[in-house]
Amino acid sequence: MAKGSINVSVENIFPLIKKFLYSDHEIFLRELISNATDATLKLKHLTSIGESKSEYGEPKIEVKIDKEGKKLHIIDQGLGMTAEEVEKYINQVAFSGAEEFLNKYEDTAKDSGIIGHFGLGFYSAFMVAEKVEIITKSHTDAPAAHWTCDGSPEFTLEEADKTDRGTEIILHIAEDSTEFLEDSKIRELLNKYNKFMPIPIKFGTKEVNDPDFTPKTTKDENGKETTEPHKQITVDDIINNPNPAWTKQPADLEDDDYKNFYRELYPIQFEEPLFHIHLNVDYPFNLTGILYFPKMTNDLNMQKDKIQLYQNQVFVTDNVEGIVPEFLTMLRGVIDSPDIPLNVSRSYLQADGAVKKISSYITRKVADKLKSLFNNNREDFEKKWDDIKIVIEYGMLSEEKFFEKADSFALYPTVDGKYFTFEELTNAIKAKQSDKDGKMVILYASNKDEQHAYIQAAKDKDYEVLLLDSPIVSHLMQKLETTKENISFARVDADHIDNLIKKDDTTISKLSEDEKTTLDTLLKEVIPSEKFMVQLEAMDSNASPFMITQPEFMRRMKE
Ligand code: ADP
Ligand code: MG
Repeated sequence: MAKGSINVSVENIFPLIKKFLYSDHEIFLRELISNATDATLKLKHLTSIGESKSEYGEPKIEVKIDKEGKKLHIIDQGLGMTAEEVEKYINQVAFSGAEEFLNKYEDTAKDSGIIGHFGLGFYSAFMVAEKVEIITKSHTDAPAAHWTCDGSPEFTLEEADKTDRGTEIILHIAEDSTEFLEDSKIRELLNKYNKFMPIPIKFGTKEVNDPDFTPKTTKDENGKETTEPHKQITVDDIINNPNPAWTKQPADLEDDDYKNFYRELYPIQFEEPLFHIHLNVDYPFNLTGILYFPKMTNDLNMQKDKIQLYQNQVFVTDNVEGIVPEFLTMLRGVIDSPDIPLNVSRSYLQADGAVKKISSYITRKVADKLKSLFNNNREDFEKKWDDIKIVIEYGMLSEEKFFEKADSFALYPTVDGKYFTFEELTNAIKAKQSDKDGKMVILYASNKDEQHAYIQAAKDKDYEVLLLDSPIVSHLMQKLETTKENISFARVDADHIDNLIKKDDTTISKLSEDEKTTLDTLLKEVIPSEKFMVQLEAMDSNASPFMITQPEFMRRMKE
């Protein structure tokens, strides 16, 4: 039996680890399963390049609770460790065997999906365990090793009699962490962090219908049919999907695969997504993922199901703030990138060069997808407009690059249900809607019913009236007014729309001069002139003998 001290410079690092390594104690399980996954992926790589004589087979990872013994076991069938390797990788805190492996097999293993990085993950076990054991058998001929450490810098290392390849980690759960001996707690954690990890993870067993059994139906003498019960068999309960859609090639996926994956991600989300964007880039950074446009309402606070961030199929967080531009945080889906620095502050993230590139890549992909939807099926795009406009309008306001792209496909619906792009709109109104300074005036209504009379009057003059009713559209109008030359927006009930250049005006008054005077006096009495203007037959509308308008400046002052 060997004895020694864990090789760290600080005298007693364990209390520090326990307190400060990660703020969330629960991530110990993610770390240990990541190590088990790495060990399996390393073996896969070594067998594939002929550097291991071991048979790879169909390895899985098992998580087991021993409630009575107050122990949690994580068992893998990966490459295992020799006693020397335990000395090297485990006893040296902050020495990462994962990093070493990637450096050694630089050319061939860079896409192997190996997770480890900092050489600290293993020690997170001490956040919940008072004692940790490793029983491990290397894929080589070396004998198995048994390492024990009770949270002090002293450990023991001896030979063990394990014969099957792989590693078993045994956590003796501490008194203050017994929640991790609960089935439901472990299942919840597995579901949160490991749902899409690449090696099957077994947690208990379950009963399923035997696929090889077809229940027989029999008839008794009265002709009554009875079907025998289905035969049940016990199988491993595999909690993860090792091949989630985002890791596949877009060409290998049907529309239904994307929809099914959406349901896998958000099991209690009943709405279907509108469309998806498959992200896939490996230079200058590595990133895969699928983003979904959900049906949006005008409610900006509808966020519950969020974009999830993964690294090599390990869940990291659903707070992607700083990684995707803010307007896209309204989308759903997953992003998987080993190149996003973790455990760093959000403000650092925003300044990080790689993260900036990732953010602008995502913005560009989303814009390209929208553009192609617009080009390929304009009718369908128009149908979806109400559900997607919030994201697009918000993006146009907040990201200059997105504005430039979206300018060609952002739509401006009219009260008659037509949809113009900005260019189409200005072409349509150029000749008939200019004010006395020659500025093109874009008329809009925000409520078809309330502004019905004004809309009708404007239509009678052959003006186009937009229907703009999203909560941020007033900001977008301001943005357009400053970005585009020679245009201004005016609400359909603003005063000066009567002064626009119009086609021939052939108003025949329906009111006599007497009637006009009476009406005028009457209206002046009831309508405050500092707020509204009254014009008799100003809009030569068939519907209204007079119009009450509110000057645009007065209206804007109120807002
Ligand atoms: P990292 O995963 O970042 O390299 P860890 O502290 O999580 O660091 O693990 C340290 C090292 O211990 C790993 O790199 C690996 O070499 C070794 N190790 C940990 N768990 C296992 C395991 N289940 N099977 C084989 N080796 C392991
Ligand atoms: Mg690790």
